[in-house]
Amino acid sequence: MSKSNTILYLDGVSVSFDGFRAINNLSLVLDKGEMRAIIGPNGAGKTTMMDIVTGKTRPDEGEVFFDGQVDLTKHDEAEIAMMGIGRKFQKPTVFESHTIEENLMLALKGPRSIFPALFHRRSAAEARQIDDILGIIRLGDKRDQLAANLSHGQKQWLEIGMLLAQDPKLLLVDEPVAGMTDAETEETARLLKEIARDHSVIVVEHDMHFVRELGVKVTCLHEGSVLSEGTLDFVSADERVVEVYLGR
Ligand code: ADP
Repeated sequence: MSKSNTILYLDGVSVSFDGFRAINNLSLVLDKGEMRAIIGPNGAGKTTMMDIVTGKTRPDEGEVFFDGQVDLTKHDEAEIAMMGIGRKFQKPTVFESHTIEENLMLALKGPRSIFPALFHRRSAAEARQIDDILGIIRLGDKRDQLAANLSHGQKQWLEIGMLLAQDPKLLLVDEPVAGMTDAETEETARLLKEIARDHSVIVVEHDMHFVRELGVKVTCLHEGSVLSEGTLDFVSADERVVEVYLGR
């Protein structure tokens, strides 16, 4: 298969931990600009797959290509982050004692430039970028509030905004709506759909109501491989998927 229009291309990827195959001949292709939901029961290999993409885990076998031609297996975690793969873990990690705007500024400048980020005048371009992000995450009216005062959902959106500030080509988002209210879940779907207009996104998620809201292609992993792939209706009607979910 041609890699040219893909943002992510995994082919025949396997990884074992102490002889146990956590990822087993996994092939997964994400087109440029696509948003994909990854589902699967606990232990299916979702986290390990994200670890492979971000360079945290090196595969034993297989190809992992980013943006058509970059062989990710030849790069470490820091290099891969610099190339434009942003990852959001399940738990929000924002700087609680800084304002929302400062959090975005810190993300924009990078973690090693705290003083310039907080104390120097921001350029017009930086100010515009922060305004744009605040518009997307809809926290503009709270820009001067401490992140500590945000709700759980708002912290998740701020952290997504911080990822955007780093201008990623691909965002990996791990269970963003865990612990959210229904209204926050709906707002998160809106936010990710807006981001997906000009980014490629992978969302790992257990909440099927949320996956339905996203309305994107779904890949179901099981035992480290793709079990089923297609629309949510197709995947959720697939007997093998029903079996792995109900069989546990
Ligand atoms: P998921 O995120 O879908 O729940 P994981 O990728 O976390 O699944 O795990 C897949 C399988 O690999 C699980 O059986 C898990 O116990 C195993 N596994 C993951 N990481 C390690 C590790 N570092 N050492 C040993 N086993 C691991």
